[in-house]
Amino acid sequence: MSKRRIAGLFKCLLHPSECRRTKKLLYEYVEGELNEDTERKLEGHLGDCPACLQYVKSYRQIIELTHKHCLPEIPIPPALKQKLREFIEQNPDLK
Ligand SMILES: [Zn+2]
Repeated sequence: MSKRRIAGLFKCLLHPSECRRTKKLLYEYVEGELNEDTERKLEGHLGDCPACLQYVKSYRQIIELTHKHCLPEIPIPPALKQKLREFIEQNPDLK
């Protein structure tokens, strides 16, 4: 584990509310549904929090997988969206 990563994780521990907020907004962020202001703040946090960045990466992979299995012109069914939200909520430590 690099020093930078350790420092980031440490920062994360010191600002758990920022991380919690990031994880809550993750879905909207990945789907591009956040307003610019919130998105910029979130990206700022990702910039110095490797733990959250890793979280976003894992989440993106899940999203990409779901997109791959759907026809491009068909949006993700609401039931699946709900399932993804639940998955994220039930795995707060997913990294
Ligand atoms: Zn964080």
